[in-house]
Amino acid sequence: MAKVIIVGAGVAGISAGIYARLAGYDAVIFEKHHTAGGNLSGWRRGEYFIDNCIHWLTGTNKDIESYKIWEDIGMLGDGVEIFKPNVLYTVELDGQSLSFSRDIEKLEDDMVAVSAEDEKESRAFIGAVKAAQKLLKFGGGENKPTRLLKYLPMTMGDLADRFKHPLLKRFFTYFLGEKFGALAMLIVGGTFCSGDADIPYGGSVAAAERIVKRYEELGGELVLGKEVVRADDGKVIFADGSEETGDYVIITADPAAAAGRMVRAKMPRAIAKRYKNKKLIRFSSVQCALAAESDKKLFEGDIIISIPDEYREELGSDRVSYREYYHEKDFAPEGKSIYQSMIFIDEEKSKEYISLDADKVEYKEKKRRIGEISRELFEKRFPELSGKVKCIDVWTPATYKRFTGAEVGSFMSFLFPKNYIPLHVDGSIEGHPRMFYAGQWLCPPGGLPNAAKSGKLVIEKIKKLEQKHASHAKAAKTVTAEG
Ligand SMILES: Cc1cc2nc3c(=O)[nH]c(=O)nc-3n(C[C@H](O)[C@H](O)[C@H](O)COP(=O)(O)OP(=O)(O)OC[C@H]3O[C@@H](n4cnc5c(N)ncnc54)[C@H](O)[C@@H]3O)c2cc1C
Repeated sequence: MAKVIIVGAGVAGISAGIYARLAGYDAVIFEKHHTAGGNLSGWRRGEYFIDNCIHWLTGTNKDIESYKIWEDIGMLGDGVEIFKPNVLYTVELDGQSLSFSRDIEKLEDDMVAVSAEDEKESRAFIGAVKAAQKLLKFGGGENKPTRLLKYLPMTMGDLADRFKHPLLKRFFTYFLGEKFGALAMLIVGGTFCSGDADIPYGGSVAAAERIVKRYEELGGELVLGKEVVRADDGKVIFADGSEETGDYVIITADPAAAAGRMVRAKMPRAIAKRYKNKKLIRFSSVQCALAAESDKKLFEGDIIISIPDEYREELGSDRVSYREYYHEKDFAPEGKSIYQSMIFIDEEKSKEYISLDADKVEYKEKKRRIGEISRELFEKRFPELSGKVKCIDVWTPATYKRFTGAEVGSFMSFLFPKNYIPLHVDGSIEGHPRMFYAGQWLCPPGGLPNAAKSGKLVIEKIKKLEQKHASHAKAAKTVTAEG
């Protein structure tokens, strides 16, 4: 029986482990961190729980391919309750607001109500979302791919430029950012409006625990707190000097951090091309957890607020989004709520945080400022919470780099531009037939479904190699017997 060694217990690694066990191989995962899940994570701060991943999970709808993978790996399935929010996000301007509603007819009416002069563009956008629903193979939608393809050569900024009303412009630029290809918005919209992209109750940590449980029930071995410093065909060496041998090695760490260091081989050409492509942007975020002495429901999903000019330079963005967790009764004590703020930042800004991390005093002060500003802006937007909000944690790209090792502290892979169709590339490493990359870096923009799928694909590849070896061995035996 082949033995598969997996570096990293994120979703890609655990998925690879599960599919390896389902194929009948021995599987052992080594994770440098003290918990499994990778970016699918969360933690306690006093009486509050901070959920740090699932905003929306593609594949909660049973009709699509990702659901089957979630079922296989135990992320979803019987007994897993799903929360279905009505709103994805809301933007505001001068007392007016617009929400991305689950109900596509409502979304269309709301967009037209904001601006009559943008009616044609609003209806065209909704038509494209419906075409996306069809293309993504959800029930419903409209079979009109040309409506969708029209948006392929556009960024979110280009899409916003087609609208005259500033709130509609903001609706498109504030969600994913101006540089993302407009196709991404149509995919997210098509998914959300099809009754998908929901949130399993219990959040990210419960989800991580379920997939680890499935892996271990299948007989997979998980070793935590074990950092791989060197990987080769069928062998890994750990930071403590010990080593492990097997038949195949799968690396789910960021290839930019692994290639040339842990792996003494060049990155696969298709992956290297992505890191070199200046239009494929890596990004991260600065986040805060805000505890509030009130359990009054104030909004649904994310609310994205403009950052005043005086803070933009310091925070590295023009907007901050706040997320609520009202549906999770255990995330905050009775009568209280937890909110999380998130400011997306680019690669350069991420690197600044990583450098700053070396100076503990300055880094701590920077985090204190961010927490303070995030709280201040939140209380200003919701004056009923004035004096009732406390920042209980702040984390940055430096945190992500420390915990997952991602080169610039990214928690997703590449933000893809216009005219780009994101596809999974092969993680085979030239000159190393028994070692592969898997993980979110193999398909922009990353995310849980892409990570899980990469784990499945790499095991399919190993299965083919094993079949080939088996038929060669059989042929050799026949020749020997005849000879
Ligand atoms: C705040 C936030 C919100 C998100 N929201 C969503 C969302 O709503 N929907 C969605 O689909 N996705 C979301 N994501 C993205 C998603 O979490 C990631 O795309 C996915 O978890 C990546 O999985 P992975 O296994 O490819 O990589 P990772 O999670 O990075 O896992 C890699 C693992 O390898 C380990 N490792 C690295 N180097 C070594 C080494 N040398 N030795 C041993 N172990 C090593 C790391 O510690 C890590 O555990 C979000 C992420 C964050 C942080």
